[in-house]
Amino acid sequence: MHIVVLGAHCGDAEIQAGAIAHKYVQAGHKATFVHLTAGEKGNPPGISVEDYRNQKIREAEKAVAVLGAESITLDYKDAELTFDEEIVTRVAALMRELKPNVVITHWEKSIHPDHALCPRIVQAAQLKAGLPGFELDGTPAHYYGIYHSENWEDMEGYVPDIFIDVSDEFESYLEALSQYWFIKNSTSFRYYDYYQALGTVRGCVNRTKYAQTLKYPTGLNVRKDQCIPGFEL
Ligand SMILES: [Zn+2]
Repeated sequence: MHIVVLGAHCGDAEIQAGAIAHKYVQAGHKATFVHLTAGEKGNPPGISVEDYRNQKIREAEKAVAVLGAESITLDYKDAELTFDEEIVTRVAALMRELKPNVVITHWEKSIHPDHALCPRIVQAAQLKAGLPGFELDGTPAHYYGIYHSENWEDMEGYVPDIFIDVSDEFESYLEALSQYWFIKNSTSFRYYDYYQALGTVRGCVNRTKYAQTLKYPTGLNVRKDQCIPGFEL
């Protein structure tokens, strides 16, 4: 199985599903983190946007090394993502190349415009990647499932559907997050504290030490059971 976690900025994908991806990697599966932009415009004082872009790509590589995964950072510009045919086709081509079974991305509602575009891009690319009639350099069609995961900027309406026990993976997850300067040092948001606490809170609800969650896309949030769940006829 190959899991792709696609985020708007370096760091988003890791904080959202780093522990889940690590759990699957530990079980013998593969994970790739795709960042549409580096998130370079959160540059700290005294560091240029270009230098911070290079720093974040290096941090992403160190973070995924801890998780046993791969990292791909595309060259779109932070805070300038747009939804158009170019980006949809590029992501579709990348997914035909990577052949993930599942793509995990941001939730549909976000206070950050770049984040809010990611599920739209992933869904539009899902159609194009999966349509044999859509010609993309001769690559075979490939279809993948989509899930959303948690990011503090995307919480409007996010009610988790799936809780995954990541108790054994949480220490590595926090170590991966610690590779990012902004997660440990941002003065605008306490990233590290938030995600450590979030994993704890989700773990309480899941009756495990730590947990990370996923959500079905809107429209798929329907169980197709043949009876009342737990009360088979
Ligand atoms: Zn972001």
